Amino acid sequence: MASSTKHIDAPQSSATDQFAQNQVPPLTGYNLFLSDRTLEQSVSREGAGWALRQLTELGGLLGTEEVQRWGFEANENPPVLHTHDSYGNRRDEVLFHPSYHQLMRTSVENGLHSLPLVEKRKGAHVVRAALMMLTAQNEAGHTCPISMTFSAVAALRAEPELARQWERKIVSSVYDPKFAPAAEKQGVLVGMGMTEKQGGSDVRANTTRAERIGSSRDYLVTGHKWFCSAPMCDAFLILAQTSKGITCFLLPRWTPAGERNAFYIQRLKDKLGNRSNASSEIEFVQAWAHLVGEEGRGVQTIIEMVNHTRLDCAIAAAGLMRQALVQAIHHARHRSAFGKLLIEQPLMQNVLADLAIESEAATLLMARLAGSFDRREDDDRERAFCRVATAVSKYWLCKRSPVHVSEALECLGGNGYVEESILPRLYREAPLYSIWEGSGNVICLDVLRALSKEPAAGEALMAELKSTSGADKRLDAYVTECRQRLSGVAQKDAVEGYNGAQYAARELTEKLALALQASLLVRYSSPAYADAFIASRLAGHHGKSFGTLPAGVNLSQILDQIAAAP
Ligand SMILES: Cc1cc2nc3c(=O)[nH]c(=O)nc-3n(C[C@H](O)[C@H](O)[C@H](O)COP(=O)(O)OP(=O)(O)OC[C@H]3O[C@@H](n4cnc5c(N)ncnc54)[C@H](O)[C@@H]3O)c2cc1C
Repeated sequence: MASSTKHIDAPQSSATDQFAQNQVPPLTGYNLFLSDRTLEQSVSREGAGWALRQLTELGGLLGTEEVQRWGFEANENPPVLHTHDSYGNRRDEVLFHPSYHQLMRTSVENGLHSLPLVEKRKGAHVVRAALMMLTAQNEAGHTCPISMTFSAVAALRAEPELARQWERKIVSSVYDPKFAPAAEKQGVLVGMGMTEKQGGSDVRANTTRAERIGSSRDYLVTGHKWFCSAPMCDAFLILAQTSKGITCFLLPRWTPAGERNAFYIQRLKDKLGNRSNASSEIEFVQAWAHLVGEEGRGVQTIIEMVNHTRLDCAIAAAGLMRQALVQAIHHARHRSAFGKLLIEQPLMQNVLADLAIESEAATLLMARLAGSFDRREDDDRERAFCRVATAVSKYWLCKRSPVHVSEALECLGGNGYVEESILPRLYREAPLYSIWEGSGNVICLDVLRALSKEPAAGEALMAELKSTSGADKRLDAYVTECRQRLSGVAQKDAVEGYNGAQYAARELTEKLALALQASLLVRYSSPAYADAFIASRLAGHHGKSFGTLPAGVNLSQILDQIAAAP
């Protein structure tokens, strides 16, 4: 595999060096955590201050030239599938570039796949969220198996004996990539197989079938999965049909007898982005699997996993926006045009301030959401808040990040469109989070489901918004409108009926997200940020693109805060 390090290699001096003027120095050797005051404050506020040291260390590591290079190399040298060995035997192995393994090792050693499972102190979800947000800024592709491994445990616990067998190796801080039975490994990873050719959102239509072996809880599974990421994981939570309906199973790569399971990787997807991560099409021919939870209740079982991966989508989206912003600011600080640094040009100031507000609101929302995962165990209101806020935040942050990253890319001009900057990678990665773990519409329908089936969820959301009542008249008016819309959802049989509610579900979700973000900014950000966000996003003084903040916002205060970025 060719190793390409051209993006950060020192240029060879040549006669043409004299032409390299007004170019921006590489953004390297900075601490991703310490340079993000909003994240740092959020971590302390949400009860996770005990992990500042770990966050500082990882933040520093991710900003080094070496670890930045891992991110580039893992994407420039994508995984390669080997379906057969040289003698024609099935092999079904995917090989990765060493830099991918370095990234995986770093994430596992930092507990991104396990922290709240092993750490009993409050705030562990927030710590993990912050670690994840930092990591996604460096290289997001490898976080797919990391996220699935962590999330799987919540579903696996529906089968306590099986969870007991697997959990110790799942939470291990050893990254062990060898392809071998779990018993021979020091640490294992878990993936997820739900999506089939005929549908990913509507998993009840799955055609894969599972036949019970005698009266045991073991089954033989035959069928396929159309998208199965990270196929080198040691086991997968999958859905398959039994006589009782859609059911969840744990399907390992090796059978308990130590033989390769009938898990055949047909090919790898040629994807828009997310290149370091292998996403495959697989087939099962009487593959061994163990039942997880009750037969016929597969969706209810696996949804526990999906809730966690949705949180991770929101975290990654916030991370991509933060990294895009940091790159845009760095460029604007060093590049001049028309006799001034770009950051001094009034219109560029409007664009950067607008991007900064969006990123700030995203970080606050994801930290608040992660905090609710910590508190929901012993706080009913937080549990109800978490239920609906997961869907609202997943939808909105994942919708905002592609447009945000695209605008940040343009701040770098032509350099932003070139692979040597990280922007093309962020740009290709961003739309993915809106697709997987419930595409936009499906998530908005989930918001409706939460609000109509669990009235406590809407009440918890409104209680949260009430906490800033009286702080800003524009926000108050917006929250009143949200309340009216929520009562409309509760009376879904009235006038428009549920179809009407579905038709308007995106608009409702967007409104709830904006209200939440505004309320968080009022509480935890500077008045300049809160005012500019409310004026532009809630009160309508904004165009259709970034860089259209109205006159009268406190630009100098927003820009001062931007100046604190690396
Ligand atoms: C890179 C990548 C990796 C992936 N990895 C995995 C993996 O590891 N495991 C796994 O199981 N899946 C994986 N997926 C699959 C992913 O979760 C699905 O693509 C996603 O759930 C959507 O399913 P679908 O592609 O079948 O689209 P469909 O279900 O056909 O949906 C198409 C569109 O219709 C919309 N839609 C669906 N139902 C409704 C409705 N009732 N009302 C309005 N609109 C609706 C959806 O929002 C979507 O926009 C991966 C996908 C990608 C791109």
